[in-house]
Amino acid sequence: MKLTVVGCSGSFPSAESACSSYLVEADGFRLLLDMGNGALGELQRHCGLYDLDAIFLSHLHADHCIDMCAYFVARYYRHDGGRCDPIPVYGPEGTEHRLTTAYADTPTASSMSEVFDFHTVKPSTFEIGPFTVHTERVAHPVEAYGIRVEHGGRVLTYSGDTGVTPALDELARDADLFLCEAAFTHGKENIPDLHLNGREAGETAARAGARRLVLTHIPPWTDPQVNLTDARTVFDGPVDLAAPSLSYEI
Ligand SMILES: [Zn+2]
Ligand SMILES: [Zn+2]
Repeated sequence: MKLTVVGCSGSFPSAESACSSYLVEADGFRLLLDMGNGALGELQRHCGLYDLDAIFLSHLHADHCIDMCAYFVARYYRHDGGRCDPIPVYGPEGTEHRLTTAYADTPTASSMSEVFDFHTVKPSTFEIGPFTVHTERVAHPVEAYGIRVEHGGRVLTYSGDTGVTPALDELARDADLFLCEAAFTHGKENIPDLHLNGREAGETAARAGARRLVLTHIPPWTDPQVNLTDARTVFDGPVDLAAPSLSYEI
């Protein structure tokens, strides 16, 4: 698998990065995890506008899904007059309604489904192209999922947005790469069931036996170096900060 960070800014875009979006590729198949603010523009640095094969939305906070409205325009109103065939979009209950109403206050109910084939995510194991994925509810104020992506005996786990939860420990069990949010700062923000701090991300990686930790979803007002240091204090494996265009062979 190849993972490419399209955007990694937490909660709102920074001057350097779009919000959450990660491209996962294997066997020529392209799966995008989340499409937050600004992600559609950045995505075009890494693949063609119409080269995605499937999209997974961890939850419906705008910083994880709002560029789907822009992507709808690109797929529905192609400059050549055609219309893109629907690609699978996996998201929580109500994803189609949420995106449709975000796009327009008088939307045509069927239009989004002409270019997106919506599937409702539940905690389960299923196939997306060549990937076997496992989803679990994580600890966030809205219905939110973490995802474990397996291919060729390798494992990528993405936390989505979450507080500390045993579900995330299981999703990240023995993961080759654990892409984990660290939106809060240890000793500063402490709101349960919302976000992790760098230390908690490191502790989760250690409990899960993950081999590599990549911290993401750090908001522009948070010092990433503090979170990086906090994670390294409790996790012995390699820890990186996500950055736009950074890629990993997993
Ligand atoms: Zn978020
Ligand atoms: Zn969120």
